[in-house]
Amino acid sequence: MGTMKQNLKVIPLGGLGEVGRNMTLFEYQGKILICDMGFRMPGEDMPGIDFIVPNINYLKGKQKNILGVVFTHGHYDHIGAVPYLIEKIWTPNLEFYASPLTRGIILKRQKDFPNQPPIKITEVKDGSKIKLGPFRIEFFRQNHNIPDNLGLFIETPVGNIFHTSDFKFDLHPVYDKPTNFQKLKDFGKRNVLLLMSDSTGAEEENHSLSEKTIEKNLEEIFKRSKGRIFAATFASLINRIQQIISLSEKYGRKVVVEGYSMKTNVEICRVLGYIKSKRGTIIKAKDSEKYPDSRITVLCTGAQGEGSAVLMRITQREHPVLRFRKGDSVILSSSVIPGNERTVQALKDDILRHGVRVYHYKMMDIHAGGHAQEEELKEMIKMIRPKFFLPIHGQYSMLVAHADIAKESGIPEKNIIILENGDLLNLNPKGFSIERERVSSNYVMVDGLGIGDVGEIVLRDRQMLAEDGMFVIVTVVDKQTGKVKGSPDIISRGFVYLRESKELLRDTRRKTIDIIHKATSSGGAVNWTYIKDEIRQKISQFLFSKTQRRPIVLPVVIEV
Ligand SMILES: [Zn+2]
Repeated sequence: MGTMKQNLKVIPLGGLGEVGRNMTLFEYQGKILICDMGFRMPGEDMPGIDFIVPNINYLKGKQKNILGVVFTHGHYDHIGAVPYLIEKIWTPNLEFYASPLTRGIILKRQKDFPNQPPIKITEVKDGSKIKLGPFRIEFFRQNHNIPDNLGLFIETPVGNIFHTSDFKFDLHPVYDKPTNFQKLKDFGKRNVLLLMSDSTGAEEENHSLSEKTIEKNLEEIFKRSKGRIFAATFASLINRIQQIISLSEKYGRKVVVEGYSMKTNVEICRVLGYIKSKRGTIIKAKDSEKYPDSRITVLCTGAQGEGSAVLMRITQREHPVLRFRKGDSVILSSSVIPGNERTVQALKDDILRHGVRVYHYKMMDIHAGGHAQEEELKEMIKMIRPKFFLPIHGQYSMLVAHADIAKESGIPEKNIIILENGDLLNLNPKGFSIERERVSSNYVMVDGLGIGDVGEIVLRDRQMLAEDGMFVIVTVVDKQTGKVKGSPDIISRGFVYLRESKELLRDTRRKTIDIIHKATSSGGAVNWTYIKDEIRQKISQFLFSKTQRRPIVLPVVIEV
């Protein structure tokens, strides 16, 4: 065995330089442990894309060597890619480990994908220990804004790794135990080689808000509101959902739960005991009219302005039952997707047009309030006392901010490792190196039922269609003579208004006929592929010279 074999490889496939899509591989002597399989939401420059999932090309042909998958918690940026990737890594013996709530959410979601291989997930909780090949993993409770969140202490032949999961320190959590600092300090005494710590809150000063404080802020809105309260939040923000249900009960309100993912999650959590509500608190939307407005809360999805979500449908008067009326209040979370702010702003304005009060409440956000900030991150580093430090989970600026925090907390700069997705980190007790060659980590996009079939080219087409539209030229050609029959037909969408562009169309038709006649006049075999390329190129140039726009030009030649 050479010395190379004694390195532990840490390979982030997603989650670095971005918020979401978290997935990390740990590899020792070819044996692979996977941590999390999350997705992220697309940006506004990705029309039609539903999600982006990690690129797992690296695992191709290595399925046999995958020892297992461990999940830290039930947020979609940690579990959301399971249905899209599972078939590519699945073997009958593949083991999955998750806390009861995380497990419940994953399995419930798998029911929407009935043709997938069955996955068996072993439940783990605070203190559980498992052994997978060279890895011994100990799970421990971490506070966050979803219950049942687990950090990982991974013993490897090379050294011990401490993975924080998403976390914050909370002395007054909601229906959860406060942070166990003693336990964290004990881990710190066990010679941690590498600390991998959540960076999402690294650019925020001070300490994150306790869930108790967030609840108090929410309660102010409940105290003030005389009409119905529409609380729009993320379906996986279980703590917030619980707080809204509890406050509704305290203020004598019934709760209507609307939106598929919201209903599903509330159902799983109630079955597993992670959401508690009194009998009769939750009612159907159509029954809400039986109660005065002051006794109704609507818990719904759509705070990010998602087109098909409940809040948007109510705002557009498209919901079958619910309509806004004067006196109602809407609690709206801010968006987490950079560039989505305009959509949220438009939604907010549209809601206000109904004469409804809007509370734009940042702490309803999945990424605000749930993550350790500067003070907590420092404290974590001081308790764990690692040799090497690797900031994870966050935009590049967050990773850099976290690296600065580590430096201030006493980690020597040379031991701080900032990685990007696809980097391959070789780690041993003495040092580390990053391989020159990266593994593939580019976006794999999910559009409807297609996974990864929408690539850069399709996306570029969509962007072009969105920007300058489409221009189709249909020409009928005599097979014998190569002469164009009649006048080419032009169909255009999103480019110019045809009726007002008669001259442009006439010139385009003439040019098309010229191109075809030129190519077919020499006699001999006619190369229609070449002719179509010619039409595409020349007409594109022509249209650009006349309009400064670049529609997608699609030539269609029909031989008769
Ligand atoms: Zn999370």
